[in-house]
Amino acid sequence: MAKEMVNDAELRKENFDDAEGLDVLPDYEGFGAESDEGEGGKKGLAVRSSGFKEFMLNKEVYRAVVENGFEHPSEVQHECIPQALLGRDLVCQAKSGMGKTAVFVIAILHQIRPVPNTVSAIVLGHTRELAFQITKEFERFAMYLPNVVVMPVFGGVSLAGQKDQITMKYPNIVVGCPGRVKALGRDKILDYSQVKHFVMDECDKMLAKMDMRADVQEIFRMTLHNKQTMMFSATMSPESRLICKKFLHNPMEVYVDDESKLTLHGLVQHFIMLTETEKNRKLCDVLDALDFNQVVIFVKSVTRAKELNNLLHAYNFPSTSIHRGMDQNERLKVYREFKDGTSRILVATDLFGRGIDIERVNIVINYDMPETNEFSDGADTYLHRVGRAGRFGTKGLAITFIASEEDSTVLNRVQERFDVCISAMPGDIDPQTYMNRN
Ligand code: AMP
Repeated sequence: MAKEMVNDAELRKENFDDAEGLDVLPDYEGFGAESDEGEGGKKGLAVRSSGFKEFMLNKEVYRAVVENGFEHPSEVQHECIPQALLGRDLVCQAKSGMGKTAVFVIAILHQIRPVPNTVSAIVLGHTRELAFQITKEFERFAMYLPNVVVMPVFGGVSLAGQKDQITMKYPNIVVGCPGRVKALGRDKILDYSQVKHFVMDECDKMLAKMDMRADVQEIFRMTLHNKQTMMFSATMSPESRLICKKFLHNPMEVYVDDESKLTLHGLVQHFIMLTETEKNRKLCDVLDALDFNQVVIFVKSVTRAKELNNLLHAYNFPSTSIHRGMDQNERLKVYREFKDGTSRILVATDLFGRGIDIERVNIVINYDMPETNEFSDGADTYLHRVGRAGRFGTKGLAITFIASEEDSTVLNRVQERFDVCISAMPGDIDPQTYMNRN
C-alpha cells in the first residue's frame, strides 16, 4: 500500500458508505469538451550481449549512449540500427517500450551534418507530449553535438511565439505533430526542402485518419525526394502496412508477424467484473491495497477524466489528470510532473495511451475498457495502454474493469489476438510479481 495513503483508507471506506451521487461518472462529453479519439527489473528482456560499440557510431553519439547508461542494444535496436545508420528506409513494428525511439534518434544523430539555418530531419508524432518526449531523447543523445539544434513544434502554443523562437535559433531537427509542422512549412517559416531524414512514430495512428494523413503527405512532399524515411509502431494492421509502404523506397521491413509476440512478459494482467456503479469504490480499494510507484488510470472521455480526478481528490488521493480539454501549457506541466515523479496517480484519456515513456509507472488501470470504433477493434488501444507499465522489460500490473458485454468482447479479442491469458483479479496479489525493486 502506498504509505502516505494508509491513514486515508479507513476514512474513505466510511465516506463511500455515506456518499451519494458519487458512484457513477458521466457517460457523455460535456458541452464544449472534445473527444480524445483521433489525435505509451529488466527480467525477461531480449537484449543482445553485443554492445553499442559494434555499431561503429561516431564518437560523440557513442559517448552519449554510454553516458546515458545504454549498455546493450535491445532486439529491435540490434536489428534496425545497422541499416538505419546506412540511411536505409525502415518500417518497424516493435513491442511497446523496447527502445524504438533510440533507433531513429541514434541513426539521425550519427548521420546528420548540421548546416546553419537548414532543417535536415523531421520527426512526426501523434501527440504533443510524444513530440516533447522525443525532443528530450534527441537532446540527451546530442549532448556532445553542440551544433545540432532540436526543436519541438506543436499546436496549442502561439504560432507567433514559435516564429520568434525559430528566428533566434533555427532548428536542424524538427519534432512535432503534423498540423503545426505543416503550417510552419506552408507559411515558409521553416524550409523543408533540404530534409534528408523523415520519421513517423506511431505511424498507424497518424495515417489512420484522413485529415492527419493529408497533413503528413503535404509535409512529405515539401521534403527532398531522395531521403531516408523511417516508420514505427507497436501495432500495424496489414492495411496500415500497405499505406506505410507508399512512403518508402526499398525499405528494411521488421514486422512482428505473430501478434502474440507483442505481449509484454513482465506484465501481469487481470480483470475485475463489476457494474458501472461499483467502479469508484473498487478503484479506491485497489489503490489502497496495491503497492505502486506510479499508476495511470485510463478513462474513455475528457469529462470522465475530469470527474474521476475530482472524485479521487475528494477521497484524498493525490491525483492529476491529462486530456485534450486542457490548455497546452497545463498539459505539459502535468506531463512533466508525472515524468519526474512529483505526482504518482494520473487519470488519462487515450491521449496518453501511446508512446509515452514513464519509467516508474508499474500499474495501469483501465477504468473504462477501450471502445471499438472505425479505426480500432479496441484490442490495439488496450495493448498500447497497458504498455505504459512494464517498460523496457520491467515488471508491471494491468487491471481492467469489465462492466458490460462490449467490455467482455474487447477483453476476449485482446486475449485471442495477443495470445495472453487475462485472469480474474485475485483477492491478494504478491507485490513481488509487479514491483521493480532495485
Ligand atoms: P522507447 O520504447 O523508445 O519508448 O524506450 C523505452 C525505454 O527504454 C526508454 O526509457 C529508453 O530510454 C529505454 N531504453 C531504450 N533502449 C535502451 C537500451 N539499449 N538500454 C537501456 N535502456 C534503454
